[in-house]
Amino acid sequence: MTRLKTLGNRVSTQSSALPVTQPGSWRTDKATSGQRGYTYAWQKASKAFLRQHPLCAMCERRGRVTAATLVDHVEAHRGDMTLFWDRTNWQPLCTPCHSSEKQREEAGRL
Ligand SMILES: [Zn+2]
Repeated sequence: MTRLKTLGNRVSTQSSALPVTQPGSWRTDKATSGQRGYTYAWQKASKAFLRQHPLCAMCERRGRVTAATLVDHVEAHRGDMTLFWDRTNWQPLCTPCHSSEKQREEAGRL
């Protein structure tokens, strides 16, 4: 029993001495949403935009009054930061409109 315990201790000590993370592996974790432009700055800017444009633009066109919950890019920016930050390319949308807009976009080109 004592021998088995000693062996177990030695094994666990050895495994903890091994490098747990590969060098540079943290970089892949960092380059996620920030790389696509959706940074803290975007969150702040889009919230300010929603305060100025609190109603969903698509609902408004249909004569409905719905509170907008997010800012959508009218023209897909596809990583283009000029288009991304161009406020004339922004529209306030509610979540249902945003999902239907994206579905329409994916279903076919206009
Ligand atoms: Zn809407």
